[in-house]
Amino acid sequence: MELQTVIIGTGLSSLSFIDKYLEKNKKIDIISPDKDFLYDFGKNKHLFNDLPYHITKNKNKINNYFESNNITVNKNSKILGILGLGGLSNYWGMQIDNNIIDDIKYLSSKTKKDIINSFFEILKKFRLKGYFKFKNKEYLNNYKIDSFYKILLKKKFKNLLVSKPILAYSKKKKLTADLYFRRYIDKKKIRIYNLSVQEIFYNENKIKIKCVDSNNKEKIIFAKKLVFGCGTIVTTKIILKFLNIKNEVKIKHHPRLVSAFFSKKKIHNLENLQASQLNIRSKNKNNSFIIDLRTGNETIIESIVRLKKYLMPFKFILNFFKNYLIFSNILLDSKFSNLFIKVSKNKTYVYSKKSGLEKNLKNIHKGFLNVLKQENLVFSFSNNFFGGYGNDFHYFGTIPISKNKKRLSVNEKCQLNGYPNIYIIDGSVLDFKENKYPVGLVMANARRVAKLFK
Ligand SMILES: Cc1cc2nc3c(=O)[nH]c(=O)nc-3n(C[C@H](O)[C@H](O)[C@H](O)COP(=O)(O)OP(=O)(O)OC[C@H]3O[C@@H](n4cnc5c(N)ncnc54)[C@H](O)[C@@H]3O)c2cc1C
Repeated sequence: MELQTVIIGTGLSSLSFIDKYLEKNKKIDIISPDKDFLYDFGKNKHLFNDLPYHITKNKNKINNYFESNNITVNKNSKILGILGLGGLSNYWGMQIDNNIIDDIKYLSSKTKKDIINSFFEILKKFRLKGYFKFKNKEYLNNYKIDSFYKILLKKKFKNLLVSKPILAYSKKKKLTADLYFRRYIDKKKIRIYNLSVQEIFYNENKIKIKCVDSNNKEKIIFAKKLVFGCGTIVTTKIILKFLNIKNEVKIKHHPRLVSAFFSKKKIHNLENLQASQLNIRSKNKNNSFIIDLRTGNETIIESIVRLKKYLMPFKFILNFFKNYLIFSNILLDSKFSNLFIKVSKNKTYVYSKKSGLEKNLKNIHKGFLNVLKQENLVFSFSNNFFGGYGNDFHYFGTIPISKNKKRLSVNEKCQLNGYPNIYIIDGSVLDFKENKYPVGLVMANARRVAKLFK
């Protein structure tokens, strides 16, 4: 069977591409395993210990991801992958960094303009909450925050900048892959193959895609053009195999610390949002970090008591005081990335190395606690938790857009160097610097590539 254009994956990157592509094309073929793609060998138990409880509901899909992709993970690295519609893109509380401009500086001015325009289109299409400005173009769909956050928003700090993020919520709905698929993709124009891609080969301008079905039976599909949207880790693995690259490759990510602070006054959720309300970023661009803040809710409390079992008897009390709890993610600069991928024979290894980064994160936590205390907003006790490398769930930058034709890179149209019929549209191609939330820029870039696609 030879198909024209095939895309792999149904995460937000793929859906963003498919949505735009179908505006001018009749159909597209998609390879993406669905919820019935069950191996469930149950070998990856160590991964589940630290996951938020709403994610552990996807236990089979997580197992299937690692089993069918044949990925072995070492104990220190806590990468997550989910097989099925939405992949990692199906979660609560998504926010998009409104500081995307700094990250696309290294691209040509046309590409930069096109990504920004696509980003504006996404904001408008889904009527996302928040504020974004570029030159004389402005997007504003405000949301209300409690006075606790307003106090911080009004302050001028020496080393910190406080702003409201863009939230992937429109009215009461969050922009999940599931919603995107149901509401915005024309089902008559797509065909989905319930297969997992294992390897690709290139022969006489044809791409041979080796897949397996849910019974682990091999299936071959030929395509004229192939678009990778199966998330950074799987895309990188398949491309490394294809190019026969045996060296380790760094996966960029944002090492993360989860913190809890205790407010002196009750904080109200004025919108039906579970997302973070405020972003606090460091002014120092050489060592940049971001702290996002959200008020406690039942989902967070449930995750905490599952993680710290000794708190289980106090669950009722924690829920009673949830509006006095403030949770934050501290996300570090991608230059502190400590995840690696290496393909060796038929196995793929993802691992991290020894590093003292946890101390860095904890110092940022301490500094921020002092800021909150100085404003008399919180009590002096606080808590934090480092879940391991990769537990930020932001993976990117392995096959970056580049002008100097490195083997492991794509051009500005996101075609793999030397293979114009192979496109990559997920986080692999974006090497984020300042931006700490990948999904908005990944979606905007995927939409841009769909416009260029012939
Ligand atoms: C809990 C959580 C919170 C997050 N919060 C944020 C946030 O606030 N802001 C932000 O910007 N980002 C956030 N992220 C990260 C963001 O979700 C990811 O960057 C985004 O999902 C990446 O989308 P993707 O389409 O590239 O990959 P994915 O969403 O992982 O999609 C990959 C797709 O490929 C398919 N696939 C995998 N292997 C194969 C194979 N072998 N063959 C065929 N198909 C395959 C999967 O089934 C899936 O459909 C969060 C992630 C999680 C898990």
